[in-house]
Amino acid sequence: MNSRRTICGAMAVLVLCVTTMESPRGFSLLNNKWPNGTVTMHLQLGSGSGALIDGSTSWNQVATNALATWNTNIDLVKFSAANDSTVSRGDGTGTNNVFFDSAVYGRSFGNSTLAIATSWYNVGSNNKIEGDVVFNNTKNWNSYRGNLRSGANDFYRVALHEFGHILGLDHPDENGQNVSAQMNSIIGNLDALASDDIAGARSLYGAGVTSNISFPPRNEPNDFFNQLIGVYQNELRAGQVTTYVDPEGIVIWLSEYARYRVGICDHSTAQTRVFSAIDNTGVYGVCALTPAGAIPFPPRNEGLNFMNALQVKYRDDLRRGPGSTYVNSEGAVVWVLEYLRYRLNSCSHGDATTKVFMQIRGQGIQPVCR
Ligand SMILES: [Zn+2]
Repeated sequence: MNSRRTICGAMAVLVLCVTTMESPRGFSLLNNKWPNGTVTMHLQLGSGSGALIDGSTSWNQVATNALATWNTNIDLVKFSAANDSTVSRGDGTGTNNVFFDSAVYGRSFGNSTLAIATSWYNVGSNNKIEGDVVFNNTKNWNSYRGNLRSGANDFYRVALHEFGHILGLDHPDENGQNVSAQMNSIIGNLDALASDDIAGARSLYGAGVTSNISFPPRNEPNDFFNQLIGVYQNELRAGQVTTYVDPEGIVIWLSEYARYRVGICDHSTAQTRVFSAIDNTGVYGVCALTPAGAIPFPPRNEGLNFMNALQVKYRDDLRRGPGSTYVNSEGAVVWVLEYLRYRLNSCSHGDATTKVFMQIRGQGIQPVCR
């Protein structure tokens, strides 16, 4: 089987994760992550918790809360909790089991280990396939906030930690870092996720920021682009060039690329998110709110890099055949981004179109409308 399993120790001393990536940003990552979408965790923690200190009435409830806490902080992957799931438990089965046991599939926990997360992933793609969490049932458990209590391990913070491994996070303290983090290997008084934990998860799955910038409705840039084609054909006497992306695709995806760039995503993040949207593998926020003032736009060379990659994607991934157009990729990038720049800086559709065409006709860059 073209997959590999690693085991990550919980908040104790045992660690068997051998492949880690150092990160200059603080957190530490395993070398594998989930493809965008839903990760279903089968919660099989049983009854019998009794009333817990924090008011929870079952281990599954606490685990569900821990999963939901991660979900509120990440964008591209969401946990789904299957409560009291009866799916069979097993190692390497492709389902994600969460349960109590006295050993991890026959392997001893060791004296000080509270829980273990396993990780199966595809060696070629580094995509995760399975992650189980086994809680050590020889330990005393409860669920509470605040400092650690003697004789009662807090199930909630250990669950946060283990689900962090499931997402693809490693132990910062065992990778040369000294940060406050739930992902540190030793359990402590920290009873929630720390900013470092969230930053690590967001580096894998995005932050899910909702853009604070309104883009024009799609029919307007589409109309602009159709007029642009006419200008290229009739005024500039441009020859036809090959394109694999149809005009609507050019306008939609250049606009989306611009939306991510205006939302403070770097070039490669923006391109990755647009392509995942094309692949239907995730719903994406931008990277950060756009600051007040003049709207920043990406440099043209990066827009052109995106456009060239989009052509390749349409040709190789979407298997589109070649078509022809009067507006080459460079022209599309320059003028669609310019149109959007006017629109986002308070120009109407008509004004933005006029201003772009004045530029094309050699009348210089026109002032924006704010
Ligand atoms: Zn751990």
